[in-house]
Amino acid sequence: MHHLTKTDFKYYLDCPESIWLLKNKPDVYPKGEFSLFTEKLIKEGYEVEAYAKKLFTNGLDLPEYGSPTQTQKALTDTYNVYFQPSFNTNKDVFARIDILERLADGTWHIYEVKSSTSIKKDRKHRHIEDACFQKYVLTECGYVVSKVSIIHLNKEYIKKGAIIPNELLEIIDITDDVDTIYSSVVNEINSASNFINKEIINETVCSCTHKTRSNHCDAFRYFNTTIPDYSIYEISRISAKKVGLLADNEQLAIIDIPPEFELNVNQQTQVESVRQEQPIINQANIKRELDKLKFPLHFIDYETYASAIPRLDGLSPHKHVTFQVSIHTLTEDGSLTHYEFLLDEMKMPIDMLQTMQDFTGLTGTFISWHASFEISRNKDLIEWLPQFTNYLTYINEHTFDLETIFKKDYIDYRFHGSSSIKKVLPVICPHLSYSELDVYNGTMALDTWGRMVLDPNFNEDIETTKINLLEYCKLDTMAMVEIYKFLIDCI
Ligand code: SF4
Repeated sequence: MHHLTKTDFKYYLDCPESIWLLKNKPDVYPKGEFSLFTEKLIKEGYEVEAYAKKLFTNGLDLPEYGSPTQTQKALTDTYNVYFQPSFNTNKDVFARIDILERLADGTWHIYEVKSSTSIKKDRKHRHIEDACFQKYVLTECGYVVSKVSIIHLNKEYIKKGAIIPNELLEIIDITDDVDTIYSSVVNEINSASNFINKEIINETVCSCTHKTRSNHCDAFRYFNTTIPDYSIYEISRISAKKVGLLADNEQLAIIDIPPEFELNVNQQTQVESVRQEQPIINQANIKRELDKLKFPLHFIDYETYASAIPRLDGLSPHKHVTFQVSIHTLTEDGSLTHYEFLLDEMKMPIDMLQTMQDFTGLTGTFISWHASFEISRNKDLIEWLPQFTNYLTYINEHTFDLETIFKKDYIDYRFHGSSSIKKVLPVICPHLSYSELDVYNGTMALDTWGRMVLDPNFNEDIETTKINLLEYCKLDTMAMVEIYKFLIDCI
């Protein structure tokens, strides 16, 4: 019999087939990336929990992977609060509770700790269902649960000196929310338990044929082996309704979409690009956009570090510290110069902004990819370092987002419906590649830098690490320069 954990249950609520495959055929379940980002979230969860524990006195720390038997032995009258106790029902439904408190009347209070700044009820988080699951397991094991709370970060908290746990965290009573959906969640838990223990299910199709790409899990192609290349799921921002209509008619390849099928202009352009097997370029629009840019052109990219627990005074939970910048500046006569800066400790980027301002001045146009990110970082920096308000306001008011061209005026079927620079670059400039780099995406940069400046046990060569980080950011801005030049040649 497979046991059911809270994580399994959340997977089940998302998709029964996917968790069945993971439980019953782990060897064939496609290995999605257990991404650095997920790892970071888990580490952050532990960190928030460590502060949550400080809200309680006289608590007993149970072993991190301790068993329900160990918990049972530990639940004596000596302590009223237990960290990480675990429980298993006779139907093999397993829960590890973040914090469990015995109340004066002998009943129990469950606390679930979250690294978010609010209670999230959406499909990805399901905080209330989570809490119901914990209550169910405890109840089945014979404990009376009279109260359930969520402890989450306080988004208004601003670090000033040492972290103050009861200001950093908020405790929200969710007993009523849990009670409202408890019986339906219990039914779902029973269904989940039965489903994962089925010996066979239909493995030749799954319901995501009728859903958009963002709903698909790593097992999509396992369950749907006949999905063609350049499928309807790649069509940019296509609605679930339209995917459903096409799937009903078994028109799963983009080239099978009937000409009269209603799509917006960008989507039609994408279809046309697949049909013609070539890019569809609106030269007049591109020219109009690029003609607006004022030289010198500063191609700019930031790398940032965000953490649930603020690391610097003045910061709130989950704020981004900009630790690196690369700028390639192109003048009208074609000369190209480069500026870069990498912080080597966790601090505000004052020196970075000063030297960056010396390099660019308040001149020309700043160009980035997905510019809303850089613009938001500049707004944060203005708040924390008001001495740079003029400069950062100038940048934000003179920023052009190069990605917009690839959302509507340059559509190539080989981008597979994406306008990410990682998809565009290999098609437009195949001579430039991220694949040779040791640090090759933003999450890796964040993780590497975070470990380098915060982890006392960091055992990689610091100089090599810095070079790897600089090379990555430099390629991002060099890529934009090359893409810009390519577009100029097109028009
Ligand atoms: S692709 Fe969708 S329906 Fe298919 S197994 Fe994954 S989540 Fe479930």
